[in-house]
Amino acid sequence: MTAQTETHRFEAEVQQVLSLVIHSLYTNKEIFLRELISNSSDALDKLRFESLTDPSLMDAGETLGIALEADTETGTLRIADNGIGMTREELVQNLGTIASSGTRRFLEAAADGGDERPDLIGQFGVGFYSAFMVADEVTVETRRAGSDEGWRWTSKGDGSYDIEPVEGLGRGTLVSLKLREPAEGEEGQGPKRFLEEFALRDVVRRYSDFVEYPVQMEVERTAPKLDDEGKPIEGESETTTSLETLNSQKPLWARPKSEIKDEEHVEFYRHLTHDWNEPFSNLLFSAEGTLEYTALLYLPSKAPMDMFDPSNRDSNVSLYVRRVLIQKECKELLPPWLRFVRGVVECSDLPLNVSRETLQDDPRLGQIQKRLVKKVLDEMGSLLENKREEYTEFWEAFGSVIKEGIWGGDDTDNRVSKICLFETSNGEELTTLPEYVERMKEGQEEIHVLTGASRAIVEGSPLLESLQEKGEEVLFLVDPVDEWVLQRLFEFDGKKIVALDRSDANEDDDEKKKREDLQKEHEGLLGSLQTALDEEISEVRFTGRLKDSPAVLVAGEGGLSGHMERLLKRSGQDVPDQKRVLELNPDHELVKSLVKLHGVDANSPRLAEAAELLHGQALLAEGGAPKDPKRFGKLVTELLLNSVKG
Ligand code: ADP
Repeated sequence: MTAQTETHRFEAEVQQVLSLVIHSLYTNKEIFLRELISNSSDALDKLRFESLTDPSLMDAGETLGIALEADTETGTLRIADNGIGMTREELVQNLGTIASSGTRRFLEAAADGGDERPDLIGQFGVGFYSAFMVADEVTVETRRAGSDEGWRWTSKGDGSYDIEPVEGLGRGTLVSLKLREPAEGEEGQGPKRFLEEFALRDVVRRYSDFVEYPVQMEVERTAPKLDDEGKPIEGESETTTSLETLNSQKPLWARPKSEIKDEEHVEFYRHLTHDWNEPFSNLLFSAEGTLEYTALLYLPSKAPMDMFDPSNRDSNVSLYVRRVLIQKECKELLPPWLRFVRGVVECSDLPLNVSRETLQDDPRLGQIQKRLVKKVLDEMGSLLENKREEYTEFWEAFGSVIKEGIWGGDDTDNRVSKICLFETSNGEELTTLPEYVERMKEGQEEIHVLTGASRAIVEGSPLLESLQEKGEEVLFLVDPVDEWVLQRLFEFDGKKIVALDRSDANEDDDEKKKREDLQKEHEGLLGSLQTALDEEISEVRFTGRLKDSPAVLVAGEGGLSGHMERLLKRSGQDVPDQKRVLELNPDHELVKSLVKLHGVDANSPRLAEAAELLHGQALLAEGGAPKDPKRFGKLVTELLLNSVKG
């Protein structure tokens, strides 16, 4: 410690991460090296990018790279890079606080996770802090490109870190890990094994082979001494050291597709995304001609925790120009509804000095985006066809986001809607629109759908009754975004898509005429029920679509469905109360009795009570609730009492 040393406390969340990491039983401790090499590789990317506009940041012809050094005497492993480095403020900010919302969620999950904590570490990746899995003291010495001030950051991971200025540092960052002694039960497999050449070689090859910068290490070799003729001299040996590069450095996307092994894709995906899971699928393709580029894209298998974070809707594909990373999350490359797709696009036709601002207006990126979207949709189509079970899991994770493509207006030629999966009255397995159309009955002209809060609610809806009798299938749209999907999706394969809970659904001219005649006949009854419900209902009328139930609620023409109204209200939106239509089943005994009662006593107060009860019951059937539950309960009790008394 020098006089200028300052001690800082870690932000509370950092300390939480650290104690999780330190006390973790996580067995895959070697990933710390992947994380540190990844950080170095990012720092080199940043330097290369900044030096495009400020060439003074690095010397001409300088080699950018990462060096490992194992010091067996002190038990220290060092990882050095000549990348961008950090200023004092950046050190405090980056290694003392937590910026990522992912990590905050990680902590929440860890707090709930109990014994599963170790796994969480693997799943989320805690970046730099994973160094404390193997070290009991970590030192970071760094000098920012363009600055002459060097800084040393030291911590034992016990709540605080020290910062002090250091003279004479080269540009970049040196991370030194004082590897800890083996813990109980760890003998032979303790952190000190990372001082051995073969262990480092193995870990680098496994996790960081494709890192574009050389990861180098001084390697000692002992060989028999040779005489002047090049023959080994018996009993004599000599030790030489040489700098060896441990990784092949070839970016995966620059290699022939057929040569890339699945494991390599897995590790590259993890390097790229910090996601611990394996990707579901990968796509590697190149375009030649007027615009040349290569794209390597991954469909993840599990949704990240922040997928629905409204501030995080940009595409996650990185743009490289001739090996230089220009932008990590280049939003011009994919639309927000494909933001879960991860990967890299490298384009040789864009100028290297392209700025983030000019990217926005570059029509070439629009061209690339078009092709990328098509490729991703084709890939999803083929996975749907060939790997149905896995696709269903993928759909469960990402379907809601993909459907944003429909309501966002990207469903030309049904290209998005045809790869969607839906719940159906046809069985437990999810189905697609093309499969539905295949199964349509002769004479069935429309695709029937019903929205609602859950399968159980929709399945019990009275609106299914007559269709069930006819044997016609209904798609259950139970994802909240489906209401929005329906605002844009009117047709599929030339067939109209009709939501059953809209007032004009599925009624032909004959049926309409019959209904209107009947309504005329019973004008008086319908009128008095309507008067009783005037505040909540725009119309009481008959319907032919019910079989067992006496009544159902549907949306008035152009009005919102009950489900949509509830969704909007729950999300805090100020929606005016919707007046909907109460439809009655004229063949139901109860309705027939009401007709009779009205004939005998048109002013009977029981008519108004019946109206309220029918309305409340219809609300309950669709997953809603009567406005005044207490009064509804009281009416039901009275009714019960009368029936019990006989
Ligand atoms: P992540 O890499 O996911 O952002 P980390 O905890 O690994 O999270 O690192 C936090 C930040 O510290 C990085 O985003 C980067 O800004 C900085 N950093 C870490 N290592 C280095 C390095 N070798 N050179 C420069 N900056 C670094």
